[in-house]
Amino acid sequence: MNEATTPRHTLRVTMSRCPNDGELAVPADTLGCRRCGNEPSHLETMTVDARGLAEAVITVNRPIGGHEAPYRFGEIRLDAGPMVRALCSPAVSAGTRVVGIELDESILFEIEEAVVDA
Ligand SMILES: [Zn+2]
Repeated sequence: MNEATTPRHTLRVTMSRCPNDGELAVPADTLGCRRCGNEPSHLETMTVDARGLAEAVITVNRPIGGHEAPYRFGEIRLDAGPMVRALCSPAVSAGTRVVGIELDESILFEIEEAVVDA
């Protein structure tokens, strides 16, 4: 079994939804709704799969935040609705179906076919 087929778990992430305007946020907004300012205690929170579509991916050629360059960084539209910005594996490009896996207590988006939930 090579690395590409090693079972790895799809991460679950916490999302908030504002009942006033439907604003979605991952990670969940802890300071209140970023759109209308609704109180944090009024927001609905739920846990969703970190799974979706890479809409835009860039290669960063400068080391930032402990990540060695070059690395891939993308905007991922989760199936649950919200957009997240996160590290991506080198195989990810715009239009790729992706799932998030844990990497050093953070999240890395990998191509969907490479992640087999055990
Ligand atoms: Zn709101």
